[in-house]
Amino acid sequence: MGASASGKSADGDRRIGRRALVVGSLAAAAGTAALARDELARLWWRVPGVEKPRKPGEVDYAGARWLAASDANWRRADRPDDYRIDMVVVHVTQGDLDSAVKAFQDPGHRAATHYIVGQDGRVTQMIRELDVAYHAGNRDYNERSIGIEHEGFVDRPEDFTDAMYESSARLTARICARYDIPVDREHIIGHVEVPGTDHTDPGPHWDWDRYMKLVRRARTAAQA
Ligand SMILES: [Zn+2]
Repeated sequence: MGASASGKSADGDRRIGRRALVVGSLAAAAGTAALARDELARLWWRVPGVEKPRKPGEVDYAGARWLAASDANWRRADRPDDYRIDMVVVHVTQGDLDSAVKAFQDPGHRAATHYIVGQDGRVTQMIRELDVAYHAGNRDYNERSIGIEHEGFVDRPEDFTDAMYESSARLTARICARYDIPVDREHIIGHVEVPGTDHTDPGPHWDWDRYMKLVRRARTAAQA
């Protein structure tokens, strides 16, 4: 979200044609018995349209609580197989956690992020990382990114608590590890840096140096 939330998503669906095409060609290949059985099984999961199993309430980040966003605020996908994930977008809610949750559950909001980090450090997941959340106001960036909201206001630096920075940094480090995303400011960006956006979050009080240091530390710790 951000200071001038316009709620635009501009995100249709062009995947059906591509899905049908890929599934069709795989079926043809299988028909010629050209693929060994184990190779077919492996490839099967790489085919957009053949979705990975999902369990209700399942989260991508251990310890997150699950609260489903309205399905009007995201698009079903099968990332990273159909779209590569190479970016994390940092947002600020411009409201408290409950109001952000309510907005994301509202089909009329037309926007939501995958995660919200509270001032107490608690992580709420509302959209699966598999899926494309409407949060960046830019279709390409939505398709390639994970969006994380932070509870607070851009003009209140005291809203960005130690617990929030640390928890969010661990979450981002985990996402970077999972999708092999470099930990740098090319790949971990603010909503304000998305091309074409009219949003200002996370704003001038978000401490990027501190945040990136914490992400790097968490990423290194995870590797050890
Ligand atoms: Zn935002």
